[in-house]
Amino acid sequence: LEGISRVADLDAAKLTITLSKTLKPIPPRHTWTFGTIMTDHMVIAEFDPEIGWSSPEIKPRDSLKIDPASSCIQYGTTVFEGMKAYIDPNGKPRLFRPDMNMARFARSAERMALPPFNTDQVLALIKQLIIVDHRWIPQFTDYSLYIRPTLMGTRLGLGVAASDHATLCIFLSPTGPYFPSDESSKVKAKPISVLAESNVVRAWPGGTGGHKVALNYSAGFLPLRTAQKEGYEQILWLLGEERRVTEAGAMNVFVVVGRDDEGVDLFTPPLDGTILPGVTRDSVLDLAHAYMAGETSLPGTLPLIHARERIFTVADLQRWSAEGKLLEAFGAGTAVIIASIGKIGFHDQGELKNIVLPAHENGIGPIADAFRTRILDIQEGKEEWKIWSVPV
Ligand code: PMP
Repeated sequence: LEGISRVADLDAAKLTITLSKTLKPIPPRHTWTFGTIMTDHMVIAEFDPEIGWSSPEIKPRDSLKIDPASSCIQYGTTVFEGMKAYIDPNGKPRLFRPDMNMARFARSAERMALPPFNTDQVLALIKQLIIVDHRWIPQFTDYSLYIRPTLMGTRLGLGVAASDHATLCIFLSPTGPYFPSDESSKVKAKPISVLAESNVVRAWPGGTGGHKVALNYSAGFLPLRTAQKEGYEQILWLLGEERRVTEAGAMNVFVVVGRDDEGVDLFTPPLDGTILPGVTRDSVLDLAHAYMAGETSLPGTLPLIHARERIFTVADLQRWSAEGKLLEAFGAGTAVIIASIGKIGFHDQGELKNIVLPAHENGIGPIADAFRTRILDIQEGKEEWKIWSVPV
């Protein structure tokens, strides 16, 4: 990176804004399939190794012109983030722990050897874009404006090398519940089914699993399609001969296991580089620890929750389930917040078997529901916790 400090850094103060002449009508919210409806504007900035970062622009959302020999197209040098803007009770937009997304964005870019950028400036650009497109932030609970900062390697040429050119693009998409439930029933969220996959791996020690890079996702589409053909919604990604549980789809995974005392254990796998360090995961752990320390309450009547990062395997899940101790399982991520897992399929000597989690009247177990409600209330600015919810 010699010399890069002598070129221009990304600078939100140099932002130019060109507004769209016509604004799109906002489609009715039942049509908002995740990530399909886009707002009116986007942020663009470009990095050139001779000049540094260009003056960022907000302009009408449009397609990009990219040469087919570009690094991101040929070698997949694309990294991104996923975060959301919410409207608080005073009608003001808010972000949830955006510093964590920005730090992860920078780490992902570094892992793909993409040019560095100042994360405070990216955050300032995100805030500007939200202000420009604020009419798209939904006012209803459980709906929000999804933010997709993306960095693409745009070096031109087929030489197998790091991309010294890049394009930063930030765009927005209004979104509702990720796994919509049946509106007519009292079920809050339909539990999802996952298929534990041992023939393909998402990530491995020394790989890119701990980073939010596009290639982690593309390699999962074929196994996902296979799992869906077998009737499962997501993959439960495993690692190693011992079939360690790592993640569920694009979510971190938690299990609630009954203890011999009155309490429960809440386990999630440790961050060993094969698992994405999720903002929601960190928030669940933090709230669980604060709850145990008596520093905060959680909605509902809950037992003591002993939260711990620990390795667990498919065999552990089978054993806990057989002993009647596997009380809840859930995925945690920005798109879903918390998604209850109802069924875990796995192959046992060629035979497909299922671990079925206890059913709950409203579709989600009390502990998963407590974290979901609490995190959503913080995100929507209905409750303050630390400085997680940040005004735009
Ligand atoms: N794991 C993967 C693979 C993901 O794509 C995501 C979504 N970013 C998560 C976990 C959850 O992370 P977060 O809570 O930061 O959204």
